[in-house]
Amino acid sequence: MTILPRQRLAIIGSGIGGLALAVALSKLGLDETLEIDVYESTAKLAPVGAGISIWPRAWDILRKMGLEKALSERSPPSASVSPGQKVSGFSYRKSDQKQGVPIVEVKLPCGPRAFHRADIQEVFLNHTSSLIRFHFCHRLKKYNKTSNGIELTFYNGKNLTCDLLIGADGINSTVRNLFLADENGNVECSRPKWTGTVAYRSLIEAEDVRKVNPQHPALEKYMVYCGKNKHIVMYPIMQGRYINTIQFVTDPTKEGTYISTTGAVVDLSEDDIPTMYSGWEDDAQCIIKLVAKPSKWAIQTVDTLDKYASECVVLLGDAAHGMAPHLGNGAAQAIEDAYVFANLIAAAHGQGRTYWDTKRITDAYNLVRQPFGNFVVDATRQQGRRYDLNTPALQAVNEGDFIPPCELADLGRSIEKGWEWTWNTLVTGDLERALAVL
Ligand SMILES: Cc1cc2nc3c(=O)[nH]c(=O)nc-3n(C[C@H](O)[C@H](O)[C@H](O)COP(=O)(O)OP(=O)(O)OC[C@H]3O[C@@H](n4cnc5c(N)ncnc54)[C@H](O)[C@@H]3O)c2cc1C
Repeated sequence: MTILPRQRLAIIGSGIGGLALAVALSKLGLDETLEIDVYESTAKLAPVGAGISIWPRAWDILRKMGLEKALSERSPPSASVSPGQKVSGFSYRKSDQKQGVPIVEVKLPCGPRAFHRADIQEVFLNHTSSLIRFHFCHRLKKYNKTSNGIELTFYNGKNLTCDLLIGADGINSTVRNLFLADENGNVECSRPKWTGTVAYRSLIEAEDVRKVNPQHPALEKYMVYCGKNKHIVMYPIMQGRYINTIQFVTDPTKEGTYISTTGAVVDLSEDDIPTMYSGWEDDAQCIIKLVAKPSKWAIQTVDTLDKYASECVVLLGDAAHGMAPHLGNGAAQAIEDAYVFANLIAAAHGQGRTYWDTKRITDAYNLVRQPFGNFVVDATRQQGRRYDLNTPALQAVNEGDFIPPCELADLGRSIEKGWEWTWNTLVTGDLERALAVL
């Protein structure tokens, strides 16, 4: 029997995607047969951001990875549902008027799951094999393909080599820049573009909301308050102790432009958030008044890529498909990438196999992940336009305008339809297709 040399996997980035891959590889026992190293630019794991929602499609993967119990302990209580039944997922309202009106109540086949990002990271870390090595303060500068593998150069002066490089380094991915330069010489299309949207994210103590309005619906469920070029998303996290709140404000004329920031913007001195929502219904305004020190994010996306992987370099998560957050799916897609990729490695490296053909693995990964990731990038963009009353049918609507009930019902149906793939589909079919071509 041929003994394979231990292949060296380098994962760049320990965000949700990099950690999900570390867990998936651990659960498949690949920590014992491969040399796996995670290189992270920061000095420690930093839970950037606030709430993360996970929908049934990604939850199915987390369950398969054995994380259900640990994550459930950290997610707010959600209704248990019998097969065939549905529970309330989100309430959408037209709220840019004094008396808001319902748009649609989207129902899900299971209770929604909302987490603090730090909780997800902690669970992922707890389920990562101790054989996987983490290296902090390692910011990748460049890579070169050599006859001995891929040579990695870090800003801290270290040079290391791997056989398979996974870029899980987020929306401003260095690996993507180098990958695209290698593939087609076009680095410009790697540069994230601004969607014209800024998001103000904060956590509000549920107790504070209760004091103002003990019946506030966001204490119990997901609320989306919609208006022209603005919307607010609110939902309970951490066993209902906090309300995750995100206000989105969009200038559609700025979509596709470039900004110099790398994501979070700290300077809020010019921003008068309450004024932006003056005239909105009370339930929206009362939360806005409780927002203190939000983090401000410029929502950027990356042009969809023709490939997510090539021979021995793989892009995963935001590095492959940086998307707007209007379907709460960026982290979920990173988890899907990780799960599919880890299973392909496991199959290629399984017992009795005597080859390690990275091209076959990356071709199979491209086959299923590139079309699906790109589909989600577009789906999130369309969904954001619906929340902002910016669909073609509503172009002429101004803030606070009356919209006839039949038009709101059409909008509601398209919002509902925009969500359906997150609970009507599973990644299993795609994984089987990918495994079949391996
Ligand atoms: C307002 C908002 C709300 C969101 N809500 C949701 C939600 O509800 N559900 C959901 O699924 N998603 C949501 N997302 C999206 C989600 O946060 C991202 O898609 C997800 O975190 C991407 O994970 P990632 O691992 O690909 O990248 P990141 O989490 O960005 O991780 C990248 C890591 O790589 C490191 N790194 C970067 N460059 C280098 C380098 N050169 N060398 C070494 N390390 C490097 C970084 O320090 C970081 O740790 C939201 C996003 C926003 C902005």
